[in-house]
Amino acid sequence: MPRIRSLAGLKAATMACRECPIGQYATQSVIGEGNPKARLMLVGEQPGDQEDLQGHPFVGPAGKLLSQALEQVGIPREQVFVSNALKHFKFELRGKRRIHKTPTQREAAACLHWLADEIALVKPEAIVALGSTAARSLVGRAVPVMAARGQWLDREDGRPVLITLHPSALLRVPPEDRDAAFTAFAADLAKARAILR
Ligand code: SF4
Repeated sequence: MPRIRSLAGLKAATMACRECPIGQYATQSVIGEGNPKARLMLVGEQPGDQEDLQGHPFVGPAGKLLSQALEQVGIPREQVFVSNALKHFKFELRGKRRIHKTPTQREAAACLHWLADEIALVKPEAIVALGSTAARSLVGRAVPVMAARGQWLDREDGRPVLITLHPSALLRVPPEDRDAAFTAFAADLAKARAILR
């Protein structure tokens, strides 16, 4: 397989990828965006419904929460690079609605080399894993996210990986607990702020 030399090349290659079953049902692949030389990269699970339609990562409701939390802790979103472990949206149809489906480990493993290419292109000093799929893809083993949140783990390449939840988890919290959940999420992200200094 040829080495990917640019983010445009990564987009084209993932658009054509059918190395797992997800790609054939999605509208398009969605790769990371932001500062292409960012010192800090954030990785989620996969594009969602809006991301799949618009072709950009973290533009739906979870992405808006992520932007708010980054702003609150003084991490400008334009300074970081935001991506996903998987490059296509996995869903099931319920009527006309496309409902997010968690990717299998096999699907995440199939997509891992694209994430590795993306990390090799951006060369971040550190990475934030948003949720368990990202944590497993980045660290190479299952990570108990609730127990490990706010902690830095090491990748095989030596880059530190900060563990936290996926912002979509905040959308599932009962309304009365949402402020506290958002504050805890932002507190996790704040630990990555020093990377930008
Ligand atoms: S999700 Fe990843 S491995 Fe699966 S088809 Fe898309 S780019 Fe390929």
